Amino acid sequence: MIQPAKEDRLVDAFGRVHTDLRISVTDRCNLRCTYCMPLEVVFRPRDELLSYEEITGAVRVAARFGIRTLRLTGGEPLVRSDIDELVRQLAVVPGIDDIALTTNGLLLAEQAEPLRRAGLHRLNVSLDSLRDQMFEAIARRRGLDRVLNGLSAAKAAGFRRIRINAVSIRGLTEDEIVPLALFCRREGFHLRFIEFMPLDAEAGWSDRQVLSGADVRDILTRNIGPLVAASRRDAGQPAIDYDWVDGEGRVGFIDPVTNPFCDRCDRLRLTADGQFRNCLFSSVEWDARGVLRSGDEPDEIDARLAEMLRECVAAKKQAHGIGSSTFARPQRAMYEIGG
Ligand code: SAM
Ligand code: SF4
Repeated sequence: MIQPAKEDRLVDAFGRVHTDLRISVTDRCNLRCTYCMPLEVVFRPRDELLSYEEITGAVRVAARFGIRTLRLTGGEPLVRSDIDELVRQLAVVPGIDDIALTTNGLLLAEQAEPLRRAGLHRLNVSLDSLRDQMFEAIARRRGLDRVLNGLSAAKAAGFRRIRINAVSIRGLTEDEIVPLALFCRREGFHLRFIEFMPLDAEAGWSDRQVLSGADVRDILTRNIGPLVAASRRDAGQPAIDYDWVDGEGRVGFIDPVTNPFCDRCDRLRLTADGQFRNCLFSSVEWDARGVLRSGDEPDEIDARLAEMLRECVAAKKQAHGIGSSTFARPQRAMYEIGG
């Protein structure tokens, strides 16, 4: 594999080496999850979104500076047409060795097979409840049966180690935890619980609503059985994994609020409208779209994007600071940044 020279790696002021790029491909979505989107939403005009060629151009430059893994997200990435075509383009970029996608699963039954053939390596499917009523209360649309069909299709298409992401919200999701865990144990999915972050478009978040990973773990052990910390940590993953003592699978906890992983963060982001960000909670963005559409010569565009990436990484703060007196929510909500 091509490795960038040490001085060309994307290292920030705190020594963190950046190897992962999260790419949002759209702000549109076919659900309206309360913790993410507003019910009434005005989406960006399509011409503001990067084309697949523009995204691939930005990734080519990032890969020269050590980006190795990509995650496609949104909004809902599967509502963007021919998303498999983007995967196909990214899969042949020199240096990229892992492409993953996060989806709500509604359109997965139709798209799992083409995505797999295009070169997608891994899938995360978001699922907060196995009960129709609760699913609809959270997502403000129906679709549980479609997500479950999508998961079956993903397995049939050959995806392995499929992850299920569930957001934990105090006073709302406690009763979903055990059924989700039993379902994932039975089906062989790797379940991960994510603490609710202050990124909901309706700005209703309060720290009282954060159901911590520790509390979720407690519910799991009381109702299902003991968990032990997994011996091998996956360095690039924010989740702290636990294994069921009976050997029936693994559960992960992503605790950005109660146990932030900022000290090992290796991520950069590219929004659907072509802005580089160095953190979910960043208040600053770098306008890659402006450079990509500048009309400059290709070499000049690449050089300007490279400079922009260096600046973006150099400006990264030590930590997001949720809970500190100086914390300010970003102006964009989760669906506009890309989770
Ligand atoms: N639409 C796709 C999906 O739902 O999987 C991809 C985009 S979504 C923004 C990515 C992930 O962010 C999902 O797993 C979702 O549950 C999570 N998410 C959204 N808003 C969140 C919040 N306020 N706090 C924690 N996780 C959130
Ligand atoms: Fe859509 Fe995903 Fe946000 Fe839910 S979490 S509204 S599925 S983008």
